[in-house]
Amino acid sequence: MSGITVKNTFTDRLSADPDTSNRPRQVHACYSWVSPKGMKQPQMVIYSQELAEVLGIPENYCQSQEFTDIMTGNKLPENSKSFAMCYGGHQFGNWADQLGDGRAINLGDIETHEGHLNLQLKGAGPTPFSRFADGLAVLRSSVREFLCSEAMYYLGVPTTRALSLTLTGEEVLRDVMYNGNAAYEKGAVVCRVAPTFIRFGNFEILASRQDEKNLKALADFTIEKYYFHLLDSENKYLEFFRSVSEATCNMIVDWQRVGFVHGVMNTDNMCILGQTIDYGPYGWLDNYDPDWTPNTTDLPGKRYRFGNQPVIAQWNMLKLANALYPLINDEESLKQIIQDFRLFYAQSYMIMMKSKTGLFENRDSDESLIYDLEQMLQVTEIDMTIFFRVLSRINHHSNDNEIFEIIKPAFYIEGITDEARDKILRWFNKYRARLKEEIISEAERSYRMNAVNPKYVLRNYMAQLAIDDADKGDYGLLHELFDMLKHPYDDQPQYGKWFEKRPDWAREKVGCSMLSCSS
Ligand code: AMP
Ligand code: MG
Repeated sequence: MSGITVKNTFTDRLSADPDTSNRPRQVHACYSWVSPKGMKQPQMVIYSQELAEVLGIPENYCQSQEFTDIMTGNKLPENSKSFAMCYGGHQFGNWADQLGDGRAINLGDIETHEGHLNLQLKGAGPTPFSRFADGLAVLRSSVREFLCSEAMYYLGVPTTRALSLTLTGEEVLRDVMYNGNAAYEKGAVVCRVAPTFIRFGNFEILASRQDEKNLKALADFTIEKYYFHLLDSENKYLEFFRSVSEATCNMIVDWQRVGFVHGVMNTDNMCILGQTIDYGPYGWLDNYDPDWTPNTTDLPGKRYRFGNQPVIAQWNMLKLANALYPLINDEESLKQIIQDFRLFYAQSYMIMMKSKTGLFENRDSDESLIYDLEQMLQVTEIDMTIFFRVLSRINHHSNDNEIFEIIKPAFYIEGITDEARDKILRWFNKYRARLKEEIISEAERSYRMNAVNPKYVLRNYMAQLAIDDADKGDYGLLHELFDMLKHPYDDQPQYGKWFEKRPDWAREKVGCSMLSCSS
């Protein structure tokens, strides 16, 4: 008997592919049955005790070999009928047709006090959607996914979570920068956890095949399970679309708040609940640069750069609108919702930026002050996280020298030009004047600012250091970062060394500033 028992809520309700083989193929159904391949030597690297607790998995069971085996796919949870989902997607702006869970195998769901949560193994073996690839994942990308999804959760950003990271005991061949230098890396599996893994692409593939029966069944299922407050709406599919749009918008506002760049905002990587999903070549802004993308595969057009994320989210909503159109048949209303996305985003973004900046009163001039701030942050290389975190120490009495002393740790370049200094001071002049109009106490303002401006984020170089150690079998840093990232808004003086700019050696290094889709 396993210590984990699951239900099969998704597969009980939706249509299965009748072919139960594991050969690559086009699947005309919502999912295919598939079993994890089973690995040579599963070994636990790290797991989230807090998430295990939510799932009702006892601590002593987490220590067992059986738990490790389940987390690697060598044993199934009680009652599990494992499967891979069929979805399509627009990749880098183009329709890619069927994609699907090429290396994700769903184990089923567990009812918890946080709603029902699905368990999914990433890297547990090939599926009918694997095409020419191996269905496996490497330690490098699994460390990145494990740490970042948990970091985002603790930052309060909607996200899928990670229960565990295990080594498979097998080697996986990867060409990290796609330049003909393939090498073997350690294989690993991450167990991801989310209310659902349904993406925009699950709807798109059905619509592209004019499979209205399954399209309706999938929409009905999604609404009933995740948007049940809409069940009695007059046009529930339209309201569903509106809710997805709002959830997606809120997620993007949170990304911009913490300086997260997803890197691959293809429609197959857009969760229908507006949760961050698929941590591939993501990155965090060090110096504030709206044009930055961590994904080298995206370099030519920088489609998924930081500043473009809201535009792309709206574009992705348009693709979802097309997919849901057969159920809604109301072009005008869909168009309106997509237009409203921009408005809703602009409003939410402004509220968020004002809270980061400590402007809690309403003033007409705030919008231009925030706009000027975005420009000012680009006059020299200024670290986004450090800048906003120390901003709460500035008040309307601070003089120019004091301001510079406070924000200096955020500068990447020593000895900034007089012109840059002037521009920075000009902004702070206006800011100081504006702060006088705040009614709440300075302590309260600072407290509220620090609750939205994290002190600790998973900078790319930090993940890379943890990976380098983990590759040698040393998981100390992985545990340290995991522990620190659970309290991103707290001071945690014991971790002061991680409240620092990206070190110079990491500026142009693979894994730190350059990442690819290879994982
Ligand atoms: P991603 O870029 O990770 O979102 O993946 C895009 C598509 O490629 C999805 O259908 C994945 O399941 C599939 N895929 C990515 N890596 C692999 C792999 N190693 N084996 C099989 N399928 C993969
Ligand atoms: Mg994906």
